[in-house]
Amino acid sequence: MSSKKIIIANWKQNGSLKSLRSLTSQIIKALKLKSISHSVVILPPYVYLPILAEQVLSNKKIRNLSIGVQNVSAFSDGAYTGEVSFEMCKDFGSKYFLVGHSERRQILSESDVLISNKVSRLLNHNKKVILCVGETLAERNKKLDKSVISKQLISALGSLSSKSKIKTNNIIIAYEPIWAIGSGKSASSEDIYNTHSYIKKKLNMILKPCKILPKVIYGGSVNNTNSKEILSIDGVDGTLVGGASLNAKKFIEICSSI
Ligand code: PEP
Repeated sequence: MSSKKIIIANWKQNGSLKSLRSLTSQIIKALKLKSISHSVVILPPYVYLPILAEQVLSNKKIRNLSIGVQNVSAFSDGAYTGEVSFEMCKDFGSKYFLVGHSERRQILSESDVLISNKVSRLLNHNKKVILCVGETLAERNKKLDKSVISKQLISALGSLSSKSKIKTNNIIIAYEPIWAIGSGKSASSEDIYNTHSYIKKKLNMILKPCKILPKVIYGGSVNNTNSKEILSIDGVDGTLVGGASLNAKKFIEICSSI
């Protein structure tokens, strides 16, 4: 696997057009000036996608910045009020699709079945999926973390119809322990290493035959002070960053920390 890492900014339901345009232009400027060789992806709220995509895509010299969305419909066109399909997002340059974030699973009651339908639709259409998995604190305390993650992976990837036709390099798994998200307390390096190793082993089994193993990235209170250590852990192929990605200086430092 390439050593190139991927740093993904999840802006959630934050910011205004003005603030996110400014944040985007500061990221673009940093990518022009600094030697950041890793891939950087921003995930703005849907409504700002067209404008921010134009800002990103009009900078032809920057090859390592892409744009994506934080959620996507499981359905093709039709009577699905409020939903947005990958085809619509693609029209505005969206390359990455985040699926199954714990906030969507927990607050918006997204089921494993819905998540699996989203993942299958995207992969069957050769799109890039960032699939979030991770355990709650209660599950961790009961030592159920690995079985929860295994269930999430099997449910989302286990029943892909034509596995041999799926490009596994279109899959990114974001390991996000729910207790670490927005808490200011990231998982320990040892826990991250162990869980990423477990996920990779599991992916090898689920995705057989699998020539290219999906990237596995870590998310949960990554910031500019812990990113270097986290990104140096064996088996960590990148990070998914929430809170700290809304601050240009912190996010650029995270992107430059390796
Ligand atoms: C997230 O919600 O995807 C996330 C990683 O958030 P934070 O970095 O704020 O913990």
